[in-house]
Amino acid sequence: MRLILLGPPGAGKGTQSARLKQKYNIPQLSTGDMLRAAVAAQTPVGLQAKAVMDSGGLVSDDIVIGIVADRIEEPDAKNGFILDGFPRTVAQAEALQKMLGSKNMNLDAVIELKVDEQALLDRIKTRVDETLKAGGTVRADDNPDAFKTRLEAYKVQTAPVSHYYAGKGALKSVDGMAPIESVTQAIDHILEH
Ligand code: AMP
Repeated sequence: MRLILLGPPGAGKGTQSARLKQKYNIPQLSTGDMLRAAVAAQTPVGLQAKAVMDSGGLVSDDIVIGIVADRIEEPDAKNGFILDGFPRTVAQAEALQKMLGSKNMNLDAVIELKVDEQALLDRIKTRVDETLKAGGTVRADDNPDAFKTRLEAYKVQTAPVSHYYAGKGALKSVDGMAPIESVTQAIDHILEH
């Protein structure tokens, strides 16, 4: 099973990916997580990516495509994966197509979580409050300014990715405003039919 979950920041991609990972026993490939790990480890990629991530902008296609190309070669991704946060530009979607094509691999589904903007702002605020309450560290890009930039990057650079897959007849949409369990069920329904 090879899946892409699309949707704006805060739409619930991470939550749903984690559930799909359990259900299908395939890894969740979150480019955001991989980049944050690179930043924490101060690798050359991390050092390059940090400032743009903190501001809420998108890391360059070359860097992200390179990370994903390496990651899908890992043994645990052999039987499938869930891409969470990738592709975020049409150039990334095209690069993915080439990568998979060269391995004779197909995508099984591209699922978009649809949510409205005010709900996203509320969710991010809740995420910050809950993290603080639990004594955790808030993501550097979970502040109002960076979040606005992330949302803008989504509208300008990532929304065309939905059109890209819709044009191929591959896009399925799910109401991301529904309760988490209902979203999971809607995704299961798509994957089972
Ligand atoms: P996320 O955890 O998916 O919200 O990603 C956090 C940040 O990592 C984003 O705001 C971007 O700066 C960067 N990032 C993650 N995935 C990508 C991607 N596919 N292309 C470019 N930048 C990315």
